[in-house]
Amino acid sequence: MQSIDFDEVERRALARRDEAGLHAEDVVPDIVEVIERLRIPVAISPFGPDGPDGLYVQEGDDRLIVLNSGKYLPRFRFTAAHELGHATYEDHPHLDVDIHAGTSHAEKRANAFAASFLLPRRALKLRFPNRTHIDPNFALNLAAEFGVSYPALIYRLHNVGLISGTARNVLLEAPAALAMEKLRGRPGNEVRLPAEFVRRAQTAYDQYEITFQRFSELLRRDKDDLAAAVRDSGILHPEDLPRAS
Ligand SMILES: [Zn+2]
Repeated sequence: MQSIDFDEVERRALARRDEAGLHAEDVVPDIVEVIERLRIPVAISPFGPDGPDGLYVQEGDDRLIVLNSGKYLPRFRFTAAHELGHATYEDHPHLDVDIHAGTSHAEKRANAFAASFLLPRRALKLRFPNRTHIDPNFALNLAAEFGVSYPALIYRLHNVGLISGTARNVLLEAPAALAMEKLRGRPGNEVRLPAEFVRRAQTAYDQYEITFQRFSELLRRDKDDLAAAVRDSGILHPEDLPRAS
């Protein structure tokens, strides 16, 4: 079977992120909204925790991604990115009962795409303080920040060369992995912005790196509502203060 060209997949994933207005070091916020920015409609339905992960439909120029909101959030997000991979490579329409069970080239490529899309190499390298040792709690926090499962993060750290195979195996056995299971109870359609993401957006706005319009987009807020909500906080530049009505 043809092998996966991981560098090519990474480039395609970064190009998609760029198209959606996400920098290579950003966390993907609401992935459904991000995919819809790419003009691919997404339908979400509760098929239950044991139901299929998702579905990719293509008919002529029309495309559709269907996701199961009954899955826990990291799985839901990984599936969404996997289906975006199918759309990016214009794969055949496909029902994904279990995204990790597929053995075909297209399925493996879609998973590689999902890992690159949610966890770009550059984003991980930026956050990686020490290449010789990684603490399970640090990895757990990193997984939570990126909205991926703990094992998905560990495998990815190894695949991009940031940890050894031995370190990967030790981390996969770590108690932190068990702690992650507690988070599986979260409803699959919930989307929450990571605190660090909000903090970085605010810093970028504060330092005039992004406009208030862009800041409000990053926070998924209507610009005027956000301006009204934080008008007395002192974080707004004078020119962005809402005018008194
Ligand atoms: Zn698939």
